Amino acid sequence: MNEFAITHAGPVRFAIVGLVFGVLLLAQMMRPRRGEHSSLARRLRNVGLTLIAALIVYLVLPLTAVGFALLVEQRQIGFFHHFDWPFGLELAISVIVLDLAIYWQHRWMHVLPWLWRIHRVHHTDTQFEVTLGLRFHPAEILLSLFYKFAVIAALGVAPISVLCYEILLAVFALFSHADLHIPTTWERRLRWFVITPDWHRVHHSVHRVETDSNYGNLLSLWDRLFRSMVAQPRDGHRSMSIGLDEFREERSQRLAALLVLPILPDRHSSRR
Ligand SMILES: [Zn+2]
Repeated sequence: MNEFAITHAGPVRFAIVGLVFGVLLLAQMMRPRRGEHSSLARRLRNVGLTLIAALIVYLVLPLTAVGFALLVEQRQIGFFHHFDWPFGLELAISVIVLDLAIYWQHRWMHVLPWLWRIHRVHHTDTQFEVTLGLRFHPAEILLSLFYKFAVIAALGVAPISVLCYEILLAVFALFSHADLHIPTTWERRLRWFVITPDWHRVHHSVHRVETDSNYGNLLSLWDRLFRSMVAQPRDGHRSMSIGLDEFREERSQRLAALLVLPILPDRHSSRR
């Protein structure tokens, strides 16, 4: 089973994430939180950006994260190769450490000016629904992959653990951006453990103090532990404004404009 998943890592990941994407698209139509009428053009733009990123990563890098983990395993590199721990324990530690690493990657992206210029492509969207979870500049995807390679090599993460985390990360990127109404009692229970759409929506607020909070991707523990949590948005979930004040015009939302955004100066932010 493990061998099949590793040999077919790409299709396995694509099938699971694609299925979740379809289910969330339907779910947010049936039970919307805000019910914004997102245009098809905006959705296609977000999907287009992720396809361009996938193509660039494929052309630039000969290896995926799972492929890199296979290399690390063959050469017996990393912390786990010095011990003989049960697979379940290794998998749990791998997921937790990778998620912690991605939390700090996200936080640095908001702090370091050159990283913010790349990451702001994700924050320029003025609507919050599932395709926002696909809207990342190719440079961010590439940098994130190199960063993950370093964590995989240091820890000696097994290929199957990398595949599990990659799927979880993509699924939660979609789920946490979905315009989904979750009953309050369930939402409260869920957010003790994982990132919910209400939790992550705060991160897409136009208010800087809220944009610079709630950096978690999978586990909500890191925002609590490192004191970056804002529980609810100041203006309420239904009336809060999404995006960045300086990027509200239609022309700043075009695909070409999003692709060149990282090389343009950041005129309005204090992250200079
Ligand atoms: Zn962010």
